[in-house]
Amino acid sequence: MEPEKHLNLTKIIVTVAIFIFAFLIILGSALITRNARSKEKKDLSLSPKNVSSSKVTNVVKNEEKNDKDSSDDENNDFTNFLDQLQQNANENDNKVDDKNDNHNSNTEVTNTKVPVSNPDAVQLCKQAQTSHEKNIYLTFDDGPSRDITPQILDTLKEYNVPATFFVLGSRVELYPELVRREYNEGHFIANHGYSHSYSSIYSSVQSVIDEFNATNKAVQDALGTTEYNTLLFRFPGGSSGGPYNDLKAEAKRTLEGMGIPSTNWNCLTGDAEAVGRTKEQLLNRLYETAEGWDSLVVLMHDANDKQATADALPEIIEHYKNEGYTFKNYYDIFQ
Ligand SMILES: [Zn+2]
Repeated sequence: MEPEKHLNLTKIIVTVAIFIFAFLIILGSALITRNARSKEKKDLSLSPKNVSSSKVTNVVKNEEKNDKDSSDDENNDFTNFLDQLQQNANENDNKVDDKNDNHNSNTEVTNTKVPVSNPDAVQLCKQAQTSHEKNIYLTFDDGPSRDITPQILDTLKEYNVPATFFVLGSRVELYPELVRREYNEGHFIANHGYSHSYSSIYSSVQSVIDEFNATNKAVQDALGTTEYNTLLFRFPGGSSGGPYNDLKAEAKRTLEGMGIPSTNWNCLTGDAEAVGRTKEQLLNRLYETAEGWDSLVVLMHDANDKQATADALPEIIEHYKNEGYTFKNYYDIFQ
């Protein structure tokens, strides 16, 4: 090779190498910046889709503050949310151990009964609260949870009492085996949205619908069948009141147009009104709020910090059995 050509070839190789090197540096720094940004923004841009894909699922832990029947503490929403994410990380860390420990993790679906759409469901759901029959609907929101849901299921089984679980899609994905157990044991699985983050679910009417659908799909995936449809919704924090009142009203109408009624409650144990309530306080709050109603729709929670709810349940059941109540769940309406 002539010296001049050799020099040119060397120049070309060096130039190409410099370009490749520069490109790699730019690409590397772009990726670092992007990761840092997406980490910052991850939680602010929460939606059912990115929640399920990221599997940073639990947005729920402090249901305490979220499920007040009115005047929800929206100012704490973001702070709670950050706390919850930390708790999520912890809970996700525990998930592997939990799966290994939980002898029910391979629970197979043995039930085939599914809710059937009912054109009178909106009216019938209202009547569940206003009827003068002595009926009682035990309802549990915000689950499933690793420690509390199994205790509640054990008690319901012991007393042979049906209940309704308003599950969160994010929790269903964590504990599908508990949803299968709820289903196998005859309980009605209803829909409480996906994230339980007000700023997320109430960002638009479409978000409410998206969270309903995401949770419906999570339940179907857990049960391994598309035959099961949740058909009944409970708005996180209740269907009215607070800064999202108008949006909730519109979402309620939209859901009803899809054949999906929503329901609140007419009495409650107050297990989400304050942290650390004792069993006796929960019982007293229930008897006080149930006063004046014949048919009862009782709001309770089976989130992980609701040990007092699990402890109070046997006495609640015994009390209303002694009072001559009939225990029902929403299969009574969707059949
Ligand atoms: Zn809730």
